[in-house]
Amino acid sequence: MKHTFPKIDLHCHLDGAISPETMFELAQERHLELPADSPETLRPFIVCDPQCRSVNEYLTKFELPTKVLQDREALARVAYELVLRSEKQGLGYLELRFAPQLHTRKGMSQREAVEAVEDGVRIALKQCRSLRAGILLCAMCIGQASDNRQANLETVRLADSCRSDLVRGFDLAGAEGLCALSDFGELFAIARQAGVPFTCHAGDSQGPETVRTAILDFGASRIGHGHHIFEDKELCGIAAERGVTLEICLTSNVQCETRPSYEAHPAKALLDMGVRVTLNTDNPIIAGVTLDSEYDLALARCGFEETDLLRMNRIAAQAAFMEGPERETLLRRLDEAGE
Ligand SMILES: [Zn+2]
Repeated sequence: MKHTFPKIDLHCHLDGAISPETMFELAQERHLELPADSPETLRPFIVCDPQCRSVNEYLTKFELPTKVLQDREALARVAYELVLRSEKQGLGYLELRFAPQLHTRKGMSQREAVEAVEDGVRIALKQCRSLRAGILLCAMCIGQASDNRQANLETVRLADSCRSDLVRGFDLAGAEGLCALSDFGELFAIARQAGVPFTCHAGDSQGPETVRTAILDFGASRIGHGHHIFEDKELCGIAAERGVTLEICLTSNVQCETRPSYEAHPAKALLDMGVRVTLNTDNPIIAGVTLDSEYDLALARCGFEETDLLRMNRIAAQAAFMEGPERETLLRRLDEAGE
């Protein structure tokens, strides 16, 4: 482990974080058909090739996880394993997210899905020395906003009614650009009214106008990806002034071709402009990354300096959906690591 300060991952999808070994076992136990007969041969169906430059290839990697994660036991197990793996990798805080509505194919309710993930995280945290964790519930964009409006309304209401020491916020994920982001405004209005902290995927495959909608219309203080804000300098100024935090995921952006290369990623330029930038994994197993490997790439290919890493983790600690004392402890640990 190269970067030994308590690292923070604010943007990590549970269904992008299942190891091939676990996927294989879960599928076997459930008598599901797999395209491979061992965890090793299953790996290429789950993990993107490092040279992957296609969002379509990237998205195919989510088919198996969704198939396997249709009962409480499977969801709890992958959540449990993600938390323990994160502790091993030296994280101080992990905010994992998932879309409960993707796990209702075999009769599990959204609420049951949330409880299962909570169970897995809670049991894992008991075995962790220094890691803290939170869960965000994602609504999904799968087409027109009306296509799954009821399911999305249920998700945002669950983000409120299930709020706990673990369930901490709300997000909108899925494909960008199938309809106008503003069509999802009612979800964020509900979150705002209920005081549920939220973030929103925007400005990744779509342009800065979606980030504008998320910040100015929804009132988002955090944006999932959001790097295309760079093309709108006025909006960059607004984001910097308002303290909006971008959850940047370098490798995911390159693999999904929303940026042509690491060298062409504007993350460092944004940070230097005063925009609050954080580095995250997005889908650690699918993308084949850890925070350590992302930091190495950030230093080697994106122009970041060592001191930026601590700075961005302080930003992440400030933007995390956590209570005051927990945040102070995390910031203190980061300060001590920087001395
Ligand atoms: Zn994401």
